[in-house]
Amino acid sequence: MIPQQTLKSSINCTGIGVHSNRKVHMELHPAAPGTGIVFCRSDLPSGSTRMIEAIHTNIIDTRLCTTIGNGRTSVRTIEHLMAALAGCGIDNAVVELDGDEVPVMDGSAAPFVFLIECAGIVEQCAPRRAIEVLRPVKLGDEDRWISVAPAESFSLRCDIDFDHPMLGHQSVLFEPTRTSFRTELSRARTFCRESDVEGILAAGMGRGGSLENTVVIGDDGPLNEDGLRYPDECARHKALDCFGDLYLAGAPILGHVHCRRTGHGMNHALLSALLGDPEAWRLTGAEQEPGYEPVAAIA
Ligand SMILES: [Zn+2]
Repeated sequence: MIPQQTLKSSINCTGIGVHSNRKVHMELHPAAPGTGIVFCRSDLPSGSTRMIEAIHTNIIDTRLCTTIGNGRTSVRTIEHLMAALAGCGIDNAVVELDGDEVPVMDGSAAPFVFLIECAGIVEQCAPRRAIEVLRPVKLGDEDRWISVAPAESFSLRCDIDFDHPMLGHQSVLFEPTRTSFRTELSRARTFCRESDVEGILAAGMGRGGSLENTVVIGDDGPLNEDGLRYPDECARHKALDCFGDLYLAGAPILGHVHCRRTGHGMNHALLSALLGDPEAWRLTGAEQEPGYEPVAAIA
């Protein structure tokens, strides 16, 4: 049995929202077993209306980022933090924000992994539940698609294929281990093509975007002075986004996910199709094994 985990202590950071361009203070707090990941808008009056569970049924927008809401309030750009929490094996945490967007930091998940590692991770006195995929689910068409198939553990293949000389076709395979998220995906930054910038700004998005938090790909390569962190950084970032979005299943998925030319909208659609079909999955680890003694239970 694998125990649930949370943070050992609270930790915080401050940054700007990549879409809002507003300064936001974020605090990550430990939470009891079974809590899951819950966002709290600390800028709003106390009460349940400022709490938003990070689960797929609360997704309200997937344009250029993943936004969750509870009918009264919302939080956007949660995907990189969700990927870091998934990659570090954090089952339970409360994320407090004094604004409506998770800070973008450097555009990757690495600063969040650093925060989580600084706070420390503790095992809890409850078994981790996982979503076991029982039959394949596939959405999309020949050009863009996302699928999940039964497997003993989670893996993700992500293909991108841009009509751009510097991007073209890239494919990455991610299999989580204790360290693989940190080394293989966490440092991959948000990217866009130089030709996309005008349209993003015209849509009222990306107001906080800069070369400090976004890889901008021009005709001759990245405009960022230091270039890329991985040769296939863009495909790795797409995998990071997908991994973060899939954590809105509410538990890790035991299955192989393969996506091609997809984004937040299709990641969400896959969760809806999979979890909306009671014969396509089941929850494992619901029973606690006798004799289990947690290393350091906090609740
Ligand atoms: Zn992203």
